[in-house]
Amino acid sequence: MTTSASDRAGAILTIDLDAIAENWRRLRSRLGGATCAGVVKADAYGLGATRVGPRLAAEGCREFFVAHLDEAASLRPCLPEDARIHVLNGLMPGAEADCAAIGAVPVLNGRDQVDRWRSLAARLGRSLPAAIQVDSGMNRLGLSPREVEDLADDPAALDGIEVTLVMSHLACADEKDNPVNVAQLAAFEAARRRLPAAPASLANSSGIFLGTNFHFDLARPGASLYGVNPTPHAANPMRGVVRLQGRVIQTREVPSGSGVGYGLTWTAPAPARLATVSVGYADGYLRSLSGRGSAWRDGTRLPIVGRVSMDTITIDIGPLPEGAIGPGTLVDLIGPDHDIDAVATDAGTIGYEILTSLGTRYARVYTGGA
Ligand SMILES: *Cc1c(COP(=O)(O)O)cnc(C)c1O
Repeated sequence: MTTSASDRAGAILTIDLDAIAENWRRLRSRLGGATCAGVVKADAYGLGATRVGPRLAAEGCREFFVAHLDEAASLRPCLPEDARIHVLNGLMPGAEADCAAIGAVPVLNGRDQVDRWRSLAARLGRSLPAAIQVDSGMNRLGLSPREVEDLADDPAALDGIEVTLVMSHLACADEKDNPVNVAQLAAFEAARRRLPAAPASLANSSGIFLGTNFHFDLARPGASLYGVNPTPHAANPMRGVVRLQGRVIQTREVPSGSGVGYGLTWTAPAPARLATVSVGYADGYLRSLSGRGSAWRDGTRLPIVGRVSMDTITIDIGPLPEGAIGPGTLVDLIGPDHDIDAVATDAGTIGYEILTSLGTRYARVYTGGA
């Protein structure tokens, strides 16, 4: 008799493709007539771009964003021919021919990138599509206001470039009342007026919730598709996507005063029942969850005691009746009782980092179609 990978696994990561699809539809309906893209960079925030991409395509998504050209190359064969894959980190020197051969759309982030893409178009004797990113105040990527002016004064600089999108990115979209948002909106509109007419895009997940004047022609949600709350000041309008279950290896009873784990940083204040679970920081279960995170079983919180090790955590199973947990029992680490954002709060980080840290040792189970 053999067991399946998830029967044997120390931990199971379940990714609900139906929930991702529903989140995409929710965002699309919020956008009215504007196009809803799908951001699938960093392997779809750790959830598997080659599974998520085709599912979004089946829902009707045709505009995809990755960060690296290699991400575009591996996603290309998984998507319909009419899907566009934009490369947010733009056009690295020397990557121009590969980018064109892959059929990816570079996000041109500076004048040097514009010039190199135009040169390639001239060499190939055909026009090449590109998005142009302008910096509206984040000072991370995109043409500066000065470069936008120079480009406006030199229309030939875009010869052979088919501008399919003019875009920018918001620095503070998750803070709905931050005045930076409207300042960036104004800067983006000013830059747009100086550039060739093309569809425009400003909003990430949180930007979609700032109001219709942030929607333009296309929005670029990422995190919200995967269940992260795009409105941290209010209830999460998205459906949960990820469940992480860790398997108990063994349980033990320890007397009052016993120390637990590396550094013996936790000491049992009374006789305690403990379980050791097969998940650790090598799985992306962050070490900062030491003494702060928790596991859940049937709605009961089981605190992590002591430090997170590379391959294990130890939890206090005292809140459950004796015998409720034994070797092989699964406990929830991320799930309905404790979502991505709650785990992020425990760890002192954001849901994005929890997702993109999810490890490769988990047995991964995809539920939902496609
Ligand atoms: C990552 C990214 C997005 C998606 O942002 P979320 O907050 O995950 O929705 C959109 N646009 C750009 C330029 C990005 O870098």
